[in-house]
Amino acid sequence: MVFFMKIGVIAIQGAVSEHIDALKRALAERGVYAEVVAIKHKGIVPQCSGIVIPGGESTTLCRLLAREGIAEEIKDAAAKGVPILGTCAGLIVLAKEGDEQVQKTSQELLGIMNIKVNRNAFGRQRDSFEAELEVEVLDSPFPGVFIRAPGIVSCGPEVRVLSKLDDQIIAAEQRNVLVLAFHPELTDDLRFHQYFLDKVINC
Ligand code: GLN
Repeated sequence: MVFFMKIGVIAIQGAVSEHIDALKRALAERGVYAEVVAIKHKGIVPQCSGIVIPGGESTTLCRLLAREGIAEEIKDAAAKGVPILGTCAGLIVLAKEGDEQVQKTSQELLGIMNIKVNRNAFGRQRDSFEAELEVEVLDSPFPGVFIRAPGIVSCGPEVRVLSKLDDQIIAAEQRNVLVLAFHPELTDDLRFHQYFLDKVINC
């Protein structure tokens, strides 16, 4: 089979295989051929038409992305308009600014999205939970799975807020970059993966 595009999932740490499966199912649903690859090393990001940064542990992710030289590649891809989806820890990694906890651990955020994150916005009170989310770009509620989830406390004017829970922003986009505080890859609902694929296909 000849693939005309590649979508990469950062596979250094975190919920990788679930995103790969969800992307494959979303592609099959719309009959689009694309190769979905796990990115562990430098050199693959520049070949990708879309990139997913999964949940996991953002301190570890940031450190390893920088060490492997992948962080710079992601920044270059984002600047070129390549669609990027960040979920949970991936949202934190993409942010421009973090709370005191992020600053204390000297996490090197990629600074791609003009948002300020609260690293454990929900984690302290409730470690994991599910909530039906009203989302700006979806016509019915989305089942949000939250696991020690972050929240966005403020964002720049170029950021479009897609969903809020309590007083936190939990889904947002800035042109080619989409961030979700929850885990769409842990549900059977592929609407966010489809939304991301729309960006990839129309890019
Ligand atoms: N709270 C975690 C962090 O700071 C993210 C949790 C997750 O990705 N499920 O990295």
